[in-house]
Amino acid sequence: MKGLKWLATASAFALTVCAVPALADVKIEDIVNDAATTNDVVSNGLGPQGQRYSTLEAINKDNVANLVPAWAMSLGGEKMRGQETQPLVRDGVMYITGSYSRMWAIDVKTGHEIWQYDHRLPEGILPCCDVINRGAAIYGDKVIFGTLDAKLVALNAKTGKVVWTKEIDDFKAGYSYTAAPLIVPTKAHGPLLLTGVSGGEFGVVGRVEGRKVDTGELVWSRPTIEGHMGTLNGKPSTMTGDKVNATWPGDLWKTGGGATWLGGTYDPDTGLAFFGAGNPGPWNSHMRPGDNKWSCARIAIDPEDGSIKWGYQTTPNDGWDFDGVNEVVSFDADGKKLAATADRNGFFYVLDRTNGAFQAAYPFVSKITWAKEIGKDGRPVYVDDNRPGDPKAGKDGKKGATVFAVPSFLGGKNWMPMAYSQQTKLFYVPSNEWGMDIWNEPVAYKKGAAYLGAGFTIKPIFDDHIGSLKAIDPLTGKIVWEAKNKAPLWGGVLTTASGLVFYGTPEGEFKALDATNGKELFSFNTGSGIVGSPITWEQDGEQMVSIVSGWGGAVPLWGGEVAKTVANLNQGGMVWTFKLPKKMAAN
Ligand code: CA
Ligand code: CA
Repeated sequence: MKGLKWLATASAFALTVCAVPALADVKIEDIVNDAATTNDVVSNGLGPQGQRYSTLEAINKDNVANLVPAWAMSLGGEKMRGQETQPLVRDGVMYITGSYSRMWAIDVKTGHEIWQYDHRLPEGILPCCDVINRGAAIYGDKVIFGTLDAKLVALNAKTGKVVWTKEIDDFKAGYSYTAAPLIVPTKAHGPLLLTGVSGGEFGVVGRVEGRKVDTGELVWSRPTIEGHMGTLNGKPSTMTGDKVNATWPGDLWKTGGGATWLGGTYDPDTGLAFFGAGNPGPWNSHMRPGDNKWSCARIAIDPEDGSIKWGYQTTPNDGWDFDGVNEVVSFDADGKKLAATADRNGFFYVLDRTNGAFQAAYPFVSKITWAKEIGKDGRPVYVDDNRPGDPKAGKDGKKGATVFAVPSFLGGKNWMPMAYSQQTKLFYVPSNEWGMDIWNEPVAYKKGAAYLGAGFTIKPIFDDHIGSLKAIDPLTGKIVWEAKNKAPLWGGVLTTASGLVFYGTPEGEFKALDATNGKELFSFNTGSGIVGSPITWEQDGEQMVSIVSGWGGAVPLWGGEVAKTVANLNQGGMVWTFKLPKKMAAN
């Protein structure tokens, strides 16, 4: 335990040399109104609706090329690897999470560490897709995040000391948690902390849970898969779905997956929390004829009691690992309360967020093989020949027919969040153009073992690029512009009222583009690949922009032939903060 002791000493030293800014408790109104307040970022998504849109305009198309680093801080140690976090900022303090379930508080004026928390991880954790973390939540005097051994940890924001810890589930069964928790208001219970589970490749029980923020006490639980019983105030509440086996055969629903591994967004207009559910288990779709609800779906949950108000399935009877977890972003257009979500399966969906009614779906990547289109009823029109074959139909029953599928299972878009501009009325979607060979194999559930029944190899489909940041008009599906990138994009997007789009690339560049035409206006080499999400806020009259750099995530681990092309990208762990030189900002 030498290492931990040393860290404790280092943190104490940091406390004595930094003047710690005064922290006011974060109130639920601060979270609900986060998008409108430019002096802080107290939610994932720069507002619970997840638009990642800032009204700040000091950094604009004319001056963004002059951005310079204000400071950078290393996440240090031997624990580099993918840094997929989005920073939070409150009262002059930045909170970031990092690889291996770590968190920091940083003085935003100097970049000096205030405290560091290292979660003690046990042997045998089972993270599917790198040892990443996607961010924290903040409320009252606490910052809260999930860990690779499936715990939730609440720290005192001033000291970094643990206030409470709760176990989500057994990490030995494949559970972990990496998404930023979501804090929402309720009438019945006060503010609740909403979280999901990771572990969709291990046959876990996908679910969303609501907890008291101050104590971590469980208030309700809502499983995503039909047949499982929810809980409310310690008692069984209602079953998910209409009846057992309505859309699942036999007992497969019991290990049916539907992991809620990307967390959720919240819409104050409807009072609904939107979560996505991942792939059904196992991947081999021939074992589970039926729609397999609510796998590969978006569900709208009433935070008062954990009931499902509506569900919309993007890929019924998924056979390609098209997890339906991607973020649901609320926006208003045509006098309607809408929501958009860009799916792993390559289609961009627009729904009525009050009731989940399907409005439209458009392909946002090219050469999609698995479906011809999304029909007017909102269901995919499958290309049956392009579904990986049934192993039982094969010669020896051990391997079904291989198909080449586009998108690959890592998706037309994966976890990396898109942004919506209230100014241009466009969505900025970090997408990837790639395919895969995929085939099915027999499989049986075994606790803690991968539950796939499939094999795969990801391949590029274009010579010059995989990544593609796209500006999409949600009312027509038109791709207004596209910025290609050689490596797959794996980080989030931010847009501003001054007409800028910020994002990072695996090659390490932090970029700003013109939101109207995609023209590059700024690029800075951060020294390692970027897979995190940028933020902007106003500090003492100056607009700041931050991004965490550090290459990793699922692509180097699962990318097949694509992984070879990015094998030379260097790992890292550095938070960078930019601003304009003082003179220029004053003009
Ligand atoms: Ca704010
Ligand atoms: Ca999955």
